[in-house]
Amino acid sequence: MVTQNVVYRPGSLEEAYRLRTDTGALPLAGGTDLMVRYRKTAGLVPDPGRPVLFIGHLKDLRRVEERAEEVRIGSCTTYTELLSQKAVPEILKRCITLLASPPIRNRGTVGGNICNSSPAGDTLPVLHALECSLVLGNIRGERTVPIDRFITGPGENALSEDEILKEIVIPKAAFSGWCYRKIGTRRANALAKISFAGLYLIESGEVHDIRIAIGAVAPTVVRSREIEKTIIRIPRTSLQRSTVEMAARYRPLIRPITDQRSTTGYRAGVTLVLIEQFLTAVLQKKG
Ligand SMILES: Cc1cc2nc3c(=O)[nH]c(=O)nc-3n(C[C@H](O)[C@H](O)[C@H](O)COP(=O)(O)OP(=O)(O)OC[C@H]3O[C@@H](n4cnc5c(N)ncnc54)[C@H](O)[C@@H]3O)c2cc1C
Repeated sequence: MVTQNVVYRPGSLEEAYRLRTDTGALPLAGGTDLMVRYRKTAGLVPDPGRPVLFIGHLKDLRRVEERAEEVRIGSCTTYTELLSQKAVPEILKRCITLLASPPIRNRGTVGGNICNSSPAGDTLPVLHALECSLVLGNIRGERTVPIDRFITGPGENALSEDEILKEIVIPKAAFSGWCYRKIGTRRANALAKISFAGLYLIESGEVHDIRIAIGAVAPTVVRSREIEKTIIRIPRTSLQRSTVEMAARYRPLIRPITDQRSTTGYRAGVTLVLIEQFLTAVLQKKG
């Protein structure tokens, strides 16, 4: 019989899939979001009102594997573990060093950040810019979903009731440089007012690839391949005159809310400045 406050600790990923199907238990990786979400009173154990499936210890979910074309990150690899992995892209490492604080990074996972699906999740713009995809598994098999089709709204995603996020797959790609900016109230333990990820490739004086992804300014991460295409392969000399105009193309996509962390006006204004600064920096690079 399934009761509240039951915690399952499976011995393998297979067992975790089976328990998830049989009991509908809620996956818990580091618990840094879940323990806060279901906290009631000081001194009482948080109670999500359904069984909990602890998966943070599973070896199959806690690994980084580098292949020829991609890097595969197990969903329960902690932030601290990712920082010591050579294969993890530098832009993701930079984002992690600005996320929370060392104790939270010792427990928190990138899989938890994705499945929590908060518009303020710091890794999300980076993972969108890197065009990562997610391997979701259940007792019957696996499916792969691009991250921009997985997160559908604040706290909403395409994970089925019987699924577990197994891996994050980051395709390898050549970039000349990257930029990650987090606007927050202070450097540690502050959720983002805005988070910004930019990647670019410059060859023979032309922008060959540019990716801009912005978090916390709309229900889901803002990225526009259409606008990016208007920047690619135009000689940098013509682009240099129009970075403000190019940044302004993002204005209709920036739909921030006012909340305890910031206001609509501040978020919208600063976002356009971040885009403009990034474009200016890209255009000044040699290549
Ligand atoms: C003090 C503090 C500061 C913080 N600062 C930041 C910050 O600066 N930036 C930021 O982005 N976040 C921050 N957070 C939020 C949190 O630490 C991150 O979102 C973290 O990545 C969550 O990972 P976790 O493993 O702890 O997730 P958990 O709490 O274990 O889970 C979060 C959600 O994801 C689901 N889930 C987790 N893993 C899986 C999986 N493999 N498959 C399916 N579902 C899964 C859970 O069921 C739950 O719904 C902070 C939290 C605290 C308490």
